[in-house]
Amino acid sequence: MRFDLITIFPEFFAGPLDHGILRRARETGLVEVSVQDLRVFTKDRHRTVDDRPFGGGEGMVLKPEPLFEAVESLLGRNVGDATGPTAHEPKTAIVLMSAAGKLFDQETARRYALLERMIFISGRYEGVDERVAEHLATEEISIGNFVLSGGELPAMLVIDAVTRLIPGALGNEASSQNESFREARPFPPTAAPSDESGFRNSMLLDFPHYTRPAEYRGWSVPDVLIGGNHAEVAKWRRAAAIEKTRRNRPDLLGRE
Ligand code: SAH
Repeated sequence: MRFDLITIFPEFFAGPLDHGILRRARETGLVEVSVQDLRVFTKDRHRTVDDRPFGGGEGMVLKPEPLFEAVESLLGRNVGDATGPTAHEPKTAIVLMSAAGKLFDQETARRYALLERMIFISGRYEGVDERVAEHLATEEISIGNFVLSGGELPAMLVIDAVTRLIPGALGNEASSQNESFREARPFPPTAAPSDESGFRNSMLLDFPHYTRPAEYRGWSVPDVLIGGNHAEVAKWRRAAAIEKTRRNRPDLLGRE
């Protein structure tokens, strides 16, 4: 997977890419990351990337020209104009980070993990000229119902979520299988469909994890986890995941 980041703050990404799973994925060549300074694609002396909004109002808006040209330089081709866009390469997404985008979630992350290349456009100020969303980006993505000051953290967050789903990125292949936001598969696998009908189209959060010490400040780890009975542990984890989902994210359960 190749990630390209287009930003007016190229130094922003130095830290977050250099730790843990992301660092290892880069070192082993599983992912490649390049950061493009948007100002490189300006043509005026002041390297202007923004301008005042038509129609008036507060703030500045990122201009379309440097963004189109930055993406074109990455793709090595012209993306076209109003008389006709050029063909889009398969397995490549051009993602505009935007508070007004579609909500990012684990399902989207799984879809992205199958791609070969992702180009991220990070907005700043009041946002980005709408023609970028309409005619350059293939996706307009929000990371949540709140407004941040730039698209860099959101892009970083998507890269993190996607990278850990690329086969080989996690040390232990199994460890992304039982995570939060997995589909609630029948449990046990032999369960009659009627027992499980309440969980159709549900997603579950992760089950609670514990480690040593078995008793800490008087709070002890549930006995069943210490007992060594794998079937009982699996049952407890399933029930605990359902209970936690019900408590923290009831919206994930029973979505028909
Ligand atoms: N005026 C815009 C907010 C601009 S914030 C609005 O009200 O929708 C500046 C930039 O931060 C945006 O262009 C976008 O790239 C980024 N950003 C802010 N919140 C975001 C979010 N929730 N998800 C993704 N990107 C976000």
